[in-house]
Amino acid sequence: MKKLIDHFTLTLGSQNVLTGEDIGTRYTKDSSVNKPQTPIAVLRPSSTEQISEILSYCNQHKQKVVVQGGMTGVVGGSTPQAGEIAISLERLSAVEEIDKASMTMTVQAGTPLQKVQEAAKEDDVNFPLDLGSRGSCTIGGNIATNAGGNQVIRYGMTRALVLGLEVVLADGTVLSSMNKMLKNNAGMDLKQLFIGSEGILGIITRAVLRVFPQPLSKCSAMCAVDNFDAVIEFLHRASSELGGSVNSFEVMWDNYYHTVLREIDQLTSPFEENFPFYVLLETTGSNQQLDDQKFEQFLGAALEDKLIQDAAIAQSQQQAESFWNIRDGVGLLLNRLPPLANFDVSVPISKMKAFIDSVNNQLKHEFENIDIMIFGHLGDSNLHIIARTGKEEDVKTIRNIVYQITGEFHGSISAEHGIGTEKKNYLSSSRTTEEIEIMKKLKQTLDPENILNSGRVI
Ligand SMILES: Cc1cc2nc3c(=O)[nH]c(=O)nc-3n(C[C@H](O)[C@H](O)[C@H](O)COP(=O)(O)OP(=O)(O)OC[C@H]3O[C@@H](n4cnc5c(N)ncnc54)[C@H](O)[C@@H]3O)c2cc1C
Repeated sequence: MKKLIDHFTLTLGSQNVLTGEDIGTRYTKDSSVNKPQTPIAVLRPSSTEQISEILSYCNQHKQKVVVQGGMTGVVGGSTPQAGEIAISLERLSAVEEIDKASMTMTVQAGTPLQKVQEAAKEDDVNFPLDLGSRGSCTIGGNIATNAGGNQVIRYGMTRALVLGLEVVLADGTVLSSMNKMLKNNAGMDLKQLFIGSEGILGIITRAVLRVFPQPLSKCSAMCAVDNFDAVIEFLHRASSELGGSVNSFEVMWDNYYHTVLREIDQLTSPFEENFPFYVLLETTGSNQQLDDQKFEQFLGAALEDKLIQDAAIAQSQQQAESFWNIRDGVGLLLNRLPPLANFDVSVPISKMKAFIDSVNNQLKHEFENIDIMIFGHLGDSNLHIIARTGKEEDVKTIRNIVYQITGEFHGSISAEHGIGTEKKNYLSSSRTTEEIEIMKKLKQTLDPENILNSGRVI
């Protein structure tokens, strides 16, 4: 081991090789409920060449490594396992170029998402990926997990926003596919292999991203709805009548909404009454005055038709943010309420009602006192479920029940967070034996020594 550390100290400089007590807690655990584990060293490269050299050396010495971005992942993927070296991308952080003619931006993988968003905005373009963890997560981590977030209904998952990638393979080979064009069918699109593969096939070092015109107007409203069928109808109406301008359609069940308001002091509901469902609807467009009128008319008609029971239209950016704080309050909730089981599942919208009934019935049948909180990016078929009895020993049974029901409904055990270590044993609920075999063959081909993020996903 000493030989390995001495080698990296020589190639990276001692300040970029952390060992022993110099390894801060930041590198010991991601945002999952995993136990922390200190890696044997943290390497902090600042270039693709350095990452290539590190992997080539580790591959020759069969040294396992874990790739670390912003450490906001919630499935244990970047938490070290015993005996691993951590490779942190934190120094590979820069926006290299914004090409407004091609509507692309080129970034390094360790750049925090918020920095990417702000750089785009400064140049009057919009990078629309947006998640609650924006301040800490990195674009490399977003690509590695194919992150979803709040605007998927309009712009798609991260995959839809990536045009080109540079990746370093386990043996140090640099695979450069820094394509800037929307259309490129010259053979296989290899970058797709790495998007969403959670760092088990290669380390993403740079990316070409799609950008869009900066929106000139924004309308936000919190709406109250009294039954699930009306929520679905409201979604379809919003999609057709607001002409493709819907950015977000976030649904919160009353149990989630009221728990967040109770647990987090500064938050208040815009409604005096309580309702079974709350929808945070947001659109963006090009003319604030006209868009306001259209938005108000749409909500007025929905109220008249009794599709929604009440609506609070944000009168300022600050009020819009206060609505989002209720939705994003989950981050604080997860820290305050453990032990709990936290799910990120997808189910076809047509089956969602039956799925939720089944989850509620089976969990309540198994546990007398269980809190179940549901919210999600409903327009993307994505539900987040938090279930807690307050007892650590119940978490595994809760997981078994929910993932089994997810499989029965042909849903996905991971809509957007990935598999990591946490859901590895449940992968077969959502993927066939043949699919998992092909994943294993790809891993074996690209990383025959199994050094990269070993033991994650498959
Ligand atoms: C408050 C909060 C809100 C969140 N909201 C959302 C949400 O709405 N939607 C959503 O999808 N997720 C959400 N997440 C989860 C998380 O933020 C995302 O998964 C994010 O994409 C992870 O990025 P990261 O840089 O923190 O990656 P990390 O946690 O560091 O790593 C995640 C995985 O990617 C791998 N990895 C990281 N960087 C690279 C790289 N350069 N090359 C190869 N592999 C790499 C790691 O090894 C690990 O397996 C949320 C998390 C929190 C804490």
